[in-house]
Amino acid sequence: MNRYWTLADRPVGAWPDARTFELRDGPIPQPGPGQALTRTIYVSLDPYQWGYRRRGVEKPGDVCHARTVSQVVESRIEGLEPGDFVFNTNGWAEYGLMGEGVPRPGYMVPRRLDPAVGPISYAVGVLGMLGLTAYAGMVLQGDPRPGETVVVSAASGGVGQIAGQLARLRGAQVVGIAGREEKVRYVTDELGFDACVSHLSPTFAQDLKAACPGGVDVYFENVGGPVFEAVLPLFNPGARMTICGLIAHYGDDGGDAGAKERARAEARGVAVQNLFVGDYVESHHEAMLAELGPAVAAGKVRYRQDVREGLEALPEAFAEMLKGGNFGKMLVRVSPDPTLQVAVN
Ligand code: NDP
Repeated sequence: MNRYWTLADRPVGAWPDARTFELRDGPIPQPGPGQALTRTIYVSLDPYQWGYRRRGVEKPGDVCHARTVSQVVESRIEGLEPGDFVFNTNGWAEYGLMGEGVPRPGYMVPRRLDPAVGPISYAVGVLGMLGLTAYAGMVLQGDPRPGETVVVSAASGGVGQIAGQLARLRGAQVVGIAGREEKVRYVTDELGFDACVSHLSPTFAQDLKAACPGGVDVYFENVGGPVFEAVLPLFNPGARMTICGLIAHYGDDGGDAGAKERARAEARGVAVQNLFVGDYVESHHEAMLAELGPAVAAGKVRYRQDVREGLEALPEAFAEMLKGGNFGKMLVRVSPDPTLQVAVN
């Protein structure tokens, strides 16, 4: 049998709870011509998935959408063999089909993975969508120059940790914003940011100002709300801001937080760009891999994952990630990873 999570009902509250999801089972699907059956190993949990559920893109009864790393069990796709590892979109399910006629939510085409390139879980992270998001938002949009001050919010998270390190590699002064103390320490001690301040501190706005004595030239926005309010007065003339995400607003009902932020930053002369990673897949996926692949392999870019275990862990891990309970990119391992000699992290 195949076990999978569905959305129980259209979410009503700001954040998911025990009633949001339902565990079901059904027969393992059979691959048709041009299809392969794959067993899910890693499920990627990403903030945008909550938007899908709240806005009704994902319907009650649907298998919950997610990007996954899987292993081929049976293949009717030429060139794809049982045992091969793939990036695909099985969602919150133990098994799924890929190939012809299989709906492919999300933007990335399924592809075969080479475990020699790096841990296979990185295909849903630093060597996949997260790496591309950080690359597009920081390198292409923010374009930091040596000596400029760059601020990154959610700095220890999946996207934030990569974005900040890309800026540091370009010679910028990089200041992170994170939550609890161990995350703040990780950002400076392990990732090598020049400073990091906690948005949980009662003196957060003063701390950020003190960490950016020359003002802010580039802001990589992942959060919004009070974090944005603290950055806003610090922008220098000619500053750039990328709105990558606004996780503090993902539980809001209505209102366009992004448009409001944009207008307020532009009123201060900041050049603001919105970011949608899907716009960069065809044009920049290879360029991202060419930079981040060797940098990660050489340890010049560090990457932390928060890996939870078992299909049952998915709803709680998802809710935790939305509220900062994750420490690094949030993943759930739903079946053993045969490539692992030792646990990731
Ligand atoms: P993260 O791993 O960064 O996890 C989310 C983090 O956000 C939490 O760990 C928490 O870190 C922080 N956070 C949550 N709520 C708040 C809050 N109210 N105030 C301050 N910080 C908060 O997730 P991702 O790396 O997957 O995503 C980061 C951002 O990038 C999201 O906004 C996401 O939507 C966006 N994104 C955008 C894409 C695009 O195409 N534009 C593509 C992919 C991601 P802490 O404990 O440190 O506060």
